[in-house]
Amino acid sequence: MLDMRGERTAPVLCPFCRTEVPRPQELEGLWYEFDGGQCPRCGASFAVDPTARNGGAVITQALVQACGGDWDKALGLAVETDFEEAYLTHYDSYSHRLKATAFGTMYFIRLRPEA
Ligand SMILES: [Zn+2]
Repeated sequence: MLDMRGERTAPVLCPFCRTEVPRPQELEGLWYEFDGGQCPRCGASFAVDPTARNGGAVITQALVQACGGDWDKALGLAVETDFEEAYLTHYDSYSHRLKATAFGTMYFIRLRPEA
């Protein structure tokens, strides 16, 4: 697992498939407030909370991203049944690495195939 002692850093890996994910980008869309992106391998959507204070809003955004911007669909989904969620703490948005002293959080959402 990740060793958080000292100033060692680690790459940002998708919690579902362990693939390195690209740096979050500003997203097209009226209400997308946080930077985000998609895992190149398993398609999980992610969004970044740079302050660790926005949790719920960031998870909701990642879920709407996973639904292609469809709010109604996103709000009708249930965790565990329709999608899986995971998060990474200690995210440093300057270096796009995980770092002991960083306090950003990345939230990941992956829809189940039947959703
Ligand atoms: Zn993935």
